[in-house]
Amino acid sequence: MPTIIQSKSTGSGNPFGFIQHLEGCHKGQNISGLHDLKRYLQKFGYLNYDRLKNYEKDDEFDDTLESAIKKYQQNHHMNVTGSLDSNTVNQMMKPRCGVADFVNGTKQNHHKHNHKSGFHTVGHYQFYFPGPRRWSKSRLTYRFDSSAPVPASLNLRSVIQQSFNRWAQVSHFTFQEVAENLDADIVIGFHRGSHGDGENNRFDGPQGVFAHAFAPTVGDCHFDAEERWSINPGQYELDLESVAVHEIGHLLGLSHESGKPDSIMYDYFEYGKIKRELTADDIQGIRVLYGLQ
Ligand SMILES: [Zn+2]
Ligand SMILES: [Zn+2]
Repeated sequence: MPTIIQSKSTGSGNPFGFIQHLEGCHKGQNISGLHDLKRYLQKFGYLNYDRLKNYEKDDEFDDTLESAIKKYQQNHHMNVTGSLDSNTVNQMMKPRCGVADFVNGTKQNHHKHNHKSGFHTVGHYQFYFPGPRRWSKSRLTYRFDSSAPVPASLNLRSVIQQSFNRWAQVSHFTFQEVAENLDADIVIGFHRGSHGDGENNRFDGPQGVFAHAFAPTVGDCHFDAEERWSINPGQYELDLESVAVHEIGHLLGLSHESGKPDSIMYDYFEYGKIKRELTADDIQGIRVLYGLQ
């Protein structure tokens, strides 16, 4: 049994492929697979069911699920139907960043100084931890630490340096690489499957979630080693620099801009696409967060 469960989430199929079969579902129905959709919406911050609830038996399209889908559609500036229409299904199946769009129902650091010190997290592995979500210093160090092999063709060190430069140019930050055996503020690596930051953050193989990063001052940034990464992406490859620039935004404290598909901080990304330039919106985000203007 355990091996079967393992192959389900790390196989070559799209981990979000199950959503395809749910197209057309609406409130009042009871359809096998809806529990997986609930897990999806919970992971990305749209549902806050009791974490003890047994999803395996919960295939009911109830009021809570409908309002979660509405919240998802609203946040992505889509038609708010509350049902799984084809636009919503297509959107949900795209590859995306593993960072949640909402934490406990609210956006974090969304262009505002928003750090509630009494912030309550349910699990040990929420992306956003209680306390400050900004760096109190401007000189940050980073190092590499991967548990999976990184192809030399990715020029990882130079791509990451270039990605940091893009943020350095529009903020007060400087970023310096240090040796792998030294302490650093930020640790960047390639990992696969479960890799030490909790089951909720385990990577899901090709497609699905491709990377995630933690808000200040955790400093961890992980890429799913099972994706096809490239520095010159073909149709079925992901551009490493585009994703790195996005994840660094999280490392600095920015959250997703789910209503702005052109921005670097948009939550979904596509194979074959290159999107490396910070937009005015991303720049405003970092400047407002750190009071730079
Ligand atoms: Zn993200
Ligand atoms: Zn991770």
